Parts: sequence; structure tokens; C-alpha cells
Amino acid sequence: MKNEQNPKIRKRLLALRDEILKVIEWRDPSSGGGGAMDEIDQANELIEKEMGFVMSNNMRANLKEVEEALERIERNHYGKCLHCGQEISSKRLEVLPFARFCVPCQEKMESKSR
Ligand SMILES: [Zn+2]
Repeated sequence: MKNEQNPKIRKRLLALRDEILKVIEWRDPSSGGGGAMDEIDQANELIEKEMGFVMSNNMRANLKEVEEALERIERNHYGKCLHCGQEISSKRLEVLPFARFCVPCQEKMESKSR
């Protein structure tokens, strides 16, 4: 993972975080706001297009993952697998900017949970 790629990814993560926050606010009437349906629709569309997210209660979990990824960028730990410490391929990070694990580790975990 080359450092010069981080500003771009950071920007994407920040934009993504904004969109997720918008969706969460909209879904949680107690946080006030309301209206702005068009914006929310746009946000939904963007997130679904970007990430293939299913709009669900996972939004808060997604937000957490995005924030953790941003934190890793700040600390210069970004792009490393949290499990084995290997660098995550830039191709994977392009698809999933907040990926925490490399493909082999992710697959191992997924097969274990089945
Ligand atoms: Zn790994």
C-alpha cells in the first residue's frame, strides 16, 4: 500500500462517512432534521453504487468501519490486514476502502462462520 494513494482513499472514506451519517440521521427521527428526501435518496444511491451496501440496520456498523479505516490512515496503519499484518492488495482496497482483512484471512473467517 503506497502512501500517496491515501489522500484519495481518505477523501472517499470521508465522503462515504458523510453519506452514512445522512442516512442514519434520516432513519433516526430523534436526531431532528427531516425533509431533505432528495438528498437521502442520492446518498442511498451513492452508497449502494459505491459499496454494494444493502440499506439495513448495518449502517452504524458500516459507519464504524469507515471511521476505523480513517483512523488507520491517520496512524499510517492503513492497508494492512488486522489479522496477519500483510498488506491488503490495492485492488481490494479500491473496491472496499475500509477493508480490515486481506482476502485469504477474510475467506478463512467466512468459511469458519459457515
Ligand atoms: Zn490477513
